[in-house]
Amino acid sequence: MKQGVVIKTTGSWFTVEAENGELFECKVKGNFRIKDIKSTNPVAVGDKVNFSVQDDIHNNAEVKTGWITSIEDRKNYIIRRSPNLSKQSHIIAANIDQAVLVATVAWPVTTTTFIDRYLASAEAYRIPVLLVFNKTDLYSKEEKARMNELISIYSKIGYLCLSTSAKKNQGIEELKNALKEKTNVINGHSGVGKSTLINLIQPGLNLKTSEISEMHKTGKHTTAFSAMFKLSFGGYIIDTPGIKGFGMLEMEAWEIPHYFPEIFKISENCQYNNCSHTHEPGCAVKEAVEAGDVAASRYISYVGLLEGEDKYRKPH
Ligand code: GDP
Ligand code: ZN
Repeated sequence: MKQGVVIKTTGSWFTVEAENGELFECKVKGNFRIKDIKSTNPVAVGDKVNFSVQDDIHNNAEVKTGWITSIEDRKNYIIRRSPNLSKQSHIIAANIDQAVLVATVAWPVTTTTFIDRYLASAEAYRIPVLLVFNKTDLYSKEEKARMNELISIYSKIGYLCLSTSAKKNQGIEELKNALKEKTNVINGHSGVGKSTLINLIQPGLNLKTSEISEMHKTGKHTTAFSAMFKLSFGGYIIDTPGIKGFGMLEMEAWEIPHYFPEIFKISENCQYNNCSHTHEPGCAVKEAVEAGDVAASRYISYVGLLEGEDKYRKPH
């Protein structure tokens, strides 16, 4: 029995990297679907698995093969819920150390609403976030001040923040250090500079064109494809083609305060236990907003999520 990490999935085959770096094409024996979600895939990229080496299950004799027999408990996972198949989910990736949100204050603008929804989702998934403000070379004086204000807001809450200019090669070493030895997913609006940054930290890693290898080319499985790539300085980047951001989880109203850590912390002092922090008297959160201890933009995002903007609460 060997142990390894699933680094690629293409439907029914899973590429497992053993501890010594050897690769095995594996299939799954048994059923390890986790109880609380009905997933269409039993094993995802990032899963730590046990497998037994077994020759001859693949028609290419050169490929080392095996059977996955069990998976270890996931510390977290991200899912995509199918809008058509109720309750059916696809596990995109598991055991993620860090979600990297690439944002820009200008060209294009990333709004605080978007950032806060992303952060709330990451909290729900229990994934730490690294916020990267890119394109600093383009910012005006005012935009730089805006960025610093945002960095101050988010680092005060506890989120790691960095600023980079892919164009001027600034902040790239810091970014490398922040990704090092971790399994990272990278998200952000189109045009913020994700590919450019990835290409700088790991030349040749062209995630957008990740190929589906010939032997797995079945066509119908291509949407199930995801993979993780080794960083030469340690760690991985998970590529999830066709999946924009990691989508919002469906959140119940009562859960939402939990996903705004600074609001949750202050809510201990609210007069009512189940205070929604909107209309109740003696609300410590509203007081903190007035006093400037909770950023107004954060509170606006919180209320926006709470007030049943359902399209934002549902996954997309
Ligand atoms: P993606 O859609 O997030 O992957 O964004 P790209 O990496 O494709 O970048 C979009 C555009 O922004 C490209 O024209 C890049 O050359 C440019 N770009 C990326 N990073 C920077 C930066 O730090 N400064 C400037 N001025 N342009 C950048
Ligand atoms: Zn309150």
